[in-house]
Amino acid sequence: MDELHRFLFDGLPVRGLLVRLGEGWRELLARRAAGPYPAPVRALLGEMAAAGVLMQSNIKFDGTLLLQIHGDGPVTLAVAEVQADLRYRATATLAAPSVPLPETGALSALVDARGSGRCAITLDPAEPKPGQQRYQGVVPLRGTDEEPLPRLADVLEHYMRQSEQLETRLVLAADDRLAAGLLIQRLPAAEPDDDAFPRIAQLAATLTREELLALDADTLLRRLFWQEPVQRFAPRAPRFACRCARGRVAGMLRSLGRDEVESIIAEQGAVEVTCEFCGAGYRFDAIDALQLFIAAADQPPGRGRVN
Ligand SMILES: [Zn+2]
Repeated sequence: MDELHRFLFDGLPVRGLLVRLGEGWRELLARRAAGPYPAPVRALLGEMAAAGVLMQSNIKFDGTLLLQIHGDGPVTLAVAEVQADLRYRATATLAAPSVPLPETGALSALVDARGSGRCAITLDPAEPKPGQQRYQGVVPLRGTDEEPLPRLADVLEHYMRQSEQLETRLVLAADDRLAAGLLIQRLPAAEPDDDAFPRIAQLAATLTREELLALDADTLLRRLFWQEPVQRFAPRAPRFACRCARGRVAGMLRSLGRDEVESIIAEQGAVEVTCEFCGAGYRFDAIDALQLFIAAADQPPGRGRVN
């Protein structure tokens, strides 16, 4: 089962979150229409899914949190999306097969081949209040000294320090079985010279990726923080779920235009669209297309998004 554990250090200005995506992560991987992701891509995507759940749960945002990494490496785009109720999905787009994958999972080698890689964090409100807009923060995959940041955790720590002014320590790891993450954060109310966060962050930093993947939540928290007063809250249950629907594909086809859709059908017999997040297939034949455009007059224009 997928699980999110929330905890506080009693009396100290530090909070923590631990996520373990198991069943849902394996389903997400199995559903990829184009077959299994190469191991380094899978690791990156799993870390993004785990980080997305941690960040969404941490800020309790009523809407969609979108984590996107794009660049000029063998991975051109990777996306993880998490809703307020912790439904998540993720997908990665690879460059042409002729672009070789690196041996290591270093972020720079995977995404940031020539230094143009970026990580974008978007908050899209579910029901925007008047004046409320979509927020997007974009950070490079490099540190202040222009050195490539080796891991996604480094990029996101950098982002949270810059955008939220919150000291954060993240440990992320993923394989074909589990995507997991630990987040430790200094509470906003903390006195600047309070030494609780550095001490606890130091403990968190001793956690290896292997341990993060191998240990269950109870064992992990006990081993890491056995000298600290950890107060735990009821766990939450993230789950893999896609948001695609035939109606949205129809909207996308309408915005493509009748001529375009009919010419594809004339050539291929039908328009077939596969959801890149969950592998679901949507097929529109000539009759479906006819209905699409006859009905279009009575309906609001499509929003142009498949997913
Ligand atoms: Zn889907």
